[in-house]
Amino acid sequence: MPDATCSQLQKRPAWIEIDEAILRQNYRLIFQDKPSHVGVAAVVKDNAYGHGAILAARIATEIGAKYLVTVTLDEALELRSAGFKTPILLLGQRQPSELSYCVEHHLTCCVHDPFTVSQLAEEARRQHRRVPIHVKINTGMNRYGVRWDEAPSLLTTILTNPSLELEGVMSHFSMSDELDKSFARFQLGNFQSVLCWIDSQNLKIPYRHHCNSGGFLDIPEAHFDMVRIGLLPLGVYPSSSVRRIPGLMPVMSVKIKVAALQNLNPGDVVGYGMRYTASSPRRIAVLPLGYGDGFPRVRNEGHVLIRGQKAPLVGGVSMDAITVDVSDIPNVQLWDEVVIMGKQNQNEITVHDLASLRHSVSYDQLCAWRNRLPRIIIHSENNSQRLVPQPEGA
Ligand SMILES: *Cc1c(COP(=O)(O)O)cnc(C)c1O
Repeated sequence: MPDATCSQLQKRPAWIEIDEAILRQNYRLIFQDKPSHVGVAAVVKDNAYGHGAILAARIATEIGAKYLVTVTLDEALELRSAGFKTPILLLGQRQPSELSYCVEHHLTCCVHDPFTVSQLAEEARRQHRRVPIHVKINTGMNRYGVRWDEAPSLLTTILTNPSLELEGVMSHFSMSDELDKSFARFQLGNFQSVLCWIDSQNLKIPYRHHCNSGGFLDIPEAHFDMVRIGLLPLGVYPSSSVRRIPGLMPVMSVKIKVAALQNLNPGDVVGYGMRYTASSPRRIAVLPLGYGDGFPRVRNEGHVLIRGQKAPLVGGVSMDAITVDVSDIPNVQLWDEVVIMGKQNQNEITVHDLASLRHSVSYDQLCAWRNRLPRIIIHSENNSQRLVPQPEGA
């Protein structure tokens, strides 16, 4: 992630702010909240949901995360290149050509099929190494994983192979953040049956893990040895019904500046397809960001914040521009700062607000912001005055 520089802001009047101080504070609050024996695996896949994987990994490990978690080999190698020595767990499935890199760079694979297990063992033997692996148990989600009732035979295969160290068993909730936890309990029961088998063999496996953010908040009996959390440290809750941790705040904001103003007469239209017609004299501000930056492609829906007030979108969202009605906000000027996502004065537009415009969830909106938008790291503790301008008259 590029660092905060004026030149970046000068290149484009639209940007993402990542507040390092809030991210650190969120991690602290989560560490205070969790039972001390429960380890944290910081999930930083997809560039830490668009927040910057290296920054997120740095803060997570500073505060005490035991594991970093990514999905693609490239994501893991980026962390290794940046100098992280922390264990890294790769989620999902590896194709055979990836395994030599995994062994070479000390990446822990999550495995669930005998073929990959044998290939990985072969590669470990070739590199004269004993590699840790985590077995993914399918407890009902039916995505990755060996079915819970077939797990003992795969575990036995691993245990009898001298090149492999069974370091973890894991599963994943398909529904941990809704009020109805019945399917989560069904999954947990299936996971427990595997843990019982492990106990019956007198095995000690250091990392048993099942929870994502929702499970961490609401299903403490599933904490086991470690929780894998991605969304929560970013100050975003997976749903409106999960438990809250007081003080957690969103890390990411999206900001922009007014790039043009138009005065409309009654009957004038705005944008592609004539989706908005002024019924009275209106003042429109044009903001230079669109669906090409990850803004939901809606029409006549949603708001932005200008001078601390809500301005509604009018017309459709273009690839590179949105148009908002500022008729009721006095004195809007060219290059005024506008909040697309985040807080301005007492008002806030949350990631959930934007996600609902795209009929989706917060995860999707966070990952949707494109690299076309510069990402600026700020530290709200130190220089909020400089970085969060106070609107005139506030
Ligand atoms: C993405 C992911 C997580 C993290 O989920 P959050 O809800 O973001 O905390 C945990 N486990 C697996 C298997 C994942 O794919």
